[in-house]
Amino acid sequence: MMQTPLLLTQMIERAEKYFPQKQVISRTESGIQRFTYKEWGQRTRRLASALTKLGMQEGDKIGTLAWNHHRHLEAYFAIPCSGAVLHTINIRLSPQHVSYIINNAEDQILLIDSDVVPLIEKIQHELNSVKAYIIMTDSDTLPETSLHPVYHYETLLKEGDPSFAFRDDLDENAPAGMCYTSATTGNPKGVVYSHRGTVLHSLSLGLTDTTGISERDVALPVVPMFHVNAWGLPFAAVWFGTTQVLPGPYFTPKILAELMESEKVTVSAGVPTIWLGLLNELESNTYDLSTVRYLLCGGSAAPRGMIKTFEQKYNIPFMHAYGMTETSPLAVVSVTKSYLETEDYEEQLNIKAKQGLLVPGLEMKIIGKDGEVKWDGQEMGELALRGPWIASEYYKDERTQDSFRDGWLYTGDVVTIDEEGYIKIVDRTKDLIKSGGEWISSVDIENALMAHEEIFEAAVVAVPHEQWQERPIACVVVKEQAKGKLDKQEIYEFLRPQFAKWWLPDDILFLDEIPKTSVGKFLKRALREQIQENMKEV
Ligand code: AMP
Repeated sequence: MMQTPLLLTQMIERAEKYFPQKQVISRTESGIQRFTYKEWGQRTRRLASALTKLGMQEGDKIGTLAWNHHRHLEAYFAIPCSGAVLHTINIRLSPQHVSYIINNAEDQILLIDSDVVPLIEKIQHELNSVKAYIIMTDSDTLPETSLHPVYHYETLLKEGDPSFAFRDDLDENAPAGMCYTSATTGNPKGVVYSHRGTVLHSLSLGLTDTTGISERDVALPVVPMFHVNAWGLPFAAVWFGTTQVLPGPYFTPKILAELMESEKVTVSAGVPTIWLGLLNELESNTYDLSTVRYLLCGGSAAPRGMIKTFEQKYNIPFMHAYGMTETSPLAVVSVTKSYLETEDYEEQLNIKAKQGLLVPGLEMKIIGKDGEVKWDGQEMGELALRGPWIASEYYKDERTQDSFRDGWLYTGDVVTIDEEGYIKIVDRTKDLIKSGGEWISSVDIENALMAHEEIFEAAVVAVPHEQWQERPIACVVVKEQAKGKLDKQEIYEFLRPQFAKWWLPDDILFLDEIPKTSVGKFLKRALREQIQENMKEV
């Protein structure tokens, strides 16, 4: 067979050629804007030409700090289709982490939403590689800013060439994108996506037995475009000619429900916090969401009760999936096998609440105490994955060796697998707390607490939370001389300057000692159980 390279260029060209009248619908700071794929394609080419004029070269990393909107989607293709690397940066991280990420990736140019400008101004003096800042705004003028040299996105586009030629001679293994993921401790770790990996991952999103995205769909990715490429939906949607609805900045559940109704959305994707918010909105106001084929939910476990309410009360099908930044992300999807379908909804729910089946194209093993676990839904082991859209390393990072061994990615997720091959996540080995789809490092907060001169030891654990899925609770043991004197307020004041606000523990408990294992490690499972017991009593 022929060895033709799999490139993102083919995706955008297909949208331009076959679906020029299909639309990208973008909610921005000033309202809803609509572009046909023809117009969007021309804008994307203008952007590529403008970036090239600014000095963008093959292999350069170009950072984006942006919400989900048409300009971000333009960057998604303009950058990799010119041979450069689209580096999406999480705008919710602390300034220290954003600064580390930009320097580690050596971003040459940053494309920034106007509301993210203050964050970048704060760290501008630390950014070693950035040669130009481009502000994405609907306004005709640039906001007041100390960023330098700074450019206005739409002005650059006006000067750009709408027929700029994309690269079709790239190596399919060349980097197309990158994204950083939080680590158990310390700085985030970079994952690089190749053209080939992204194309094959997009193909998997189109399979009927996974998410089955097609031209007929109207897709609304709520999951941020800075979070594993909005789970790859924007790429697949462009390739397949799917109408896209991009929800823009500061959306609320009401805005999402209205968009779903008015644009007749068929598929949407987000973390459980998003869907719990939507559920609340549906409880208070009436919307016609009958076009929705399914809501895709991942990032954290989808609560069983939530799935049931969507499906039984609102007749909105739900699809539970699992993946991670390192896996592009789609790896496991909960679809019911034909012969497992029954009239008994609770039985169906047992399947839907699991993370699901491995998607075609990937390989998996689950390593327990004594080798690979039995398919009995009981024995637990760590999930390891490999395949063409699974990362093989972290970008310039020694921590590669902790997760990548013998050609496998060790996910850090502890799972069981039943007789039919359905995977269920039961725990994680990484000491991270996932709050509303974003990570909090318990170890980093513990280290900060233990640096307080009156704290002897501290452990931070995740407790289940209705809205955010998990929230941190800190347990501290105060030094003898400070007992009864050090109070919560003082500890919060101490932590506040060091962390983003949403990282601060929901509560601080004072203990006499932290339970430990025989080798002196914090016994977090016991601590979690103890806290949950106390919460029940309250
Ligand atoms: P991220 O790289 O931020 O996308 O996070 C990936 C991690 O989120 C996984 O390793 C899991 O720990 C967790 N995760 C993702 N999807 C699910 C899910 N459906 N259920 C439970 N945990 C999940």
